[in-house]
Amino acid sequence: MPTPPSIRHALLEDTAAALGKDYLQQLVNSLALHSGAQLVFISRPLPLPLRHVEVMVANRSQHPGRYPLAGTPCEQVIHQQQATMCHRGVNQDFSAEQDTAWQSYAGWPLVDKHGHCLGHLALFDERAHALPDTLLQDIAPFVTRAAAELKRLEHERISSARASWDALHSHFLRQYIQGQPLPALLGDMVEHIEQALPGWLCTILQVDATQRLRPLVGPSLPPAYTALIDGLAIGPMVGSCGAAAWHRKRLVAEDLQQHPNWAPYREVARQFALGSCWSEPIIDSKGKVHGTFAVYHHTPSAPTLEAITVIEDTARLLAVLMENDANRQALDSRTQWYQAILQNAADALSIIDMDGRVLEASDSLCKLLGYSQAEIRQLHLWDMVSHRSEAELRQQLAHTGDTPETFDSQNRTKDGQIIDVEVSVRRLVLDGQPVIWGSARDISLRKQQERLLREQATIDSLTGLYNRPTLLAHLEALLASPAHTTLALLMLDLDHFKQVNDHYGHACGDATLAHIANQMRQLLGPEGCAGRLGGEEFCVLLPGSTAAAATRYSQQLLATIAGQPLHFAGHTIHLTASLGLSLYQPGDDSRSLLARADMALYQAKHQGRNRMVMLPP
Ligand code: GH3
Ligand code: MG
Ligand code: MG
Repeated sequence: MPTPPSIRHALLEDTAAALGKDYLQQLVNSLALHSGAQLVFISRPLPLPLRHVEVMVANRSQHPGRYPLAGTPCEQVIHQQQATMCHRGVNQDFSAEQDTAWQSYAGWPLVDKHGHCLGHLALFDERAHALPDTLLQDIAPFVTRAAAELKRLEHERISSARASWDALHSHFLRQYIQGQPLPALLGDMVEHIEQALPGWLCTILQVDATQRLRPLVGPSLPPAYTALIDGLAIGPMVGSCGAAAWHRKRLVAEDLQQHPNWAPYREVARQFALGSCWSEPIIDSKGKVHGTFAVYHHTPSAPTLEAITVIEDTARLLAVLMENDANRQALDSRTQWYQAILQNAADALSIIDMDGRVLEASDSLCKLLGYSQAEIRQLHLWDMVSHRSEAELRQQLAHTGDTPETFDSQNRTKDGQIIDVEVSVRRLVLDGQPVIWGSARDISLRKQQERLLREQATIDSLTGLYNRPTLLAHLEALLASPAHTTLALLMLDLDHFKQVNDHYGHACGDATLAHIANQMRQLLGPEGCAGRLGGEEFCVLLPGSTAAAATRYSQQLLATIAGQPLHFAGHTIHLTASLGLSLYQPGDDSRSLLARADMALYQAKHQGRNRMVMLPP
């Protein structure tokens, strides 16, 4: 049958306004009408299963659906990408049309500008020589247009699929940010993908620090199979995932019984009814391979462009999640380290803001001051520091510098106790805010020991009076003071003290010395100052005292000593003492004053003891 001269024109008219799938349908219908072919369709190659095509549009509602290409003229058209026409004895069998014996055939490949085969256009007729010879040229422009429309359809399909995946990915990202743990999230993701894409068996493997594969999720894979993968070292030929991680590149094994990487695992694949495995490496922003995202099918299968998009996008999302999670874990473990250091530090650590508020406190600080963590965070610096006003402390905060300063201070505990502390402080910037880092060490024990040492150096331990060096230093200081005008110096020696020791023992002698010291102290006014010069010899300084006042004190002291005997171990020990008094005269120094008092004391002894002698200047 000759081609009607108007076929090109008719096709143009019929398809002028149509787009996308409509265009393809119009083209097919119009072609059938004007060429007279009984069956016209446009197919696209199907990766699932291999080497099949799927009819997208046909001029009849009962079209062949999907069919295998092998040994058909369509196979030739698609694989050689060449338009073909034959007039008799077409060897093509569509399962739905088994009774039809096709004679005439014309086919055109539909390719994009990169030469990628998008499908093909086919015409069939039961009659030999049914199709016009000029058809191949006549239809050429429509074939180009049909390829463009197929491409457009593919784009639309992919972008709508991508939009829904994007929404899903945003959902998972949000969940992760809201704190959902990664393993649970990965489980959800895989479940979603498997629901959306029937036949997909997804798994996510992690590449551990020793470069071994560790399954994270794979809900639809047989657990025994997953167990076999666990611990497999990655390598250039290790199945799909081991190789994808090794080469940092997608590895598609369409048929596990054929792919060389699967040679050692063919039996395993057969045993678990696994036909294909496409694996995409999960590579983060720094180029680190975290693992692989893999899709298995029970039958040999090749991925569509759409499938590749899903796999790539999923791997990209997984890279973001796994990189973040690694960072989150590192941060968590570092935070735990810091917490451990903070909470186990012997020193009491704190971070205080510039308003004096406690932002952070170690448990040791809480323990030192007797507060709970919650309580201490309600406090200001001035609630914890003793002997310093809020104004002083605010000033100190403002003047704290970047280099650590150390000084002694005093803290106040919750129950009002004062603790000596050695404090180190420095200014830091945290989260862009200046803060004061402080470390306090309890030095109350050291301070107490220092006080004790100081006392031991100045005080006579037996009597609690000043010792000789301290008393003499005091005397020098009084004499050097410009305010000093008058001063009386008294020297006291117990009478017959040797006998106390001899009769009652040395311990009683010691008790006697303490007893006398008490009597001296009790009679002394706030200005006076008493010391033990050595043995049973004492000295009293009475600054500002007149001769009369000094004499009164001396007489009172003698009367007290004699009138209030010591009771010791059941004994009553009567005591007396002798006193020598000297009064300051212009020109006197400590030596001359002491010498005159000593001389007076000697005379008091000589005159019969239990008396006071004052030498004239
Ligand atoms: P006098 O009236 O002449 O002073 O006679 P006395 O026995 O008090 O003689 P003297 O002042 O020389 O005696 C000093 C004695 O004081 C000698 C020593 O055994 C005793 N003595 C000195 N220091 C201590 C002390 O720390 N404890 C005791 N128990 N005895 C001391
Ligand atoms: Mg003596
Ligand atoms: Mg004596």
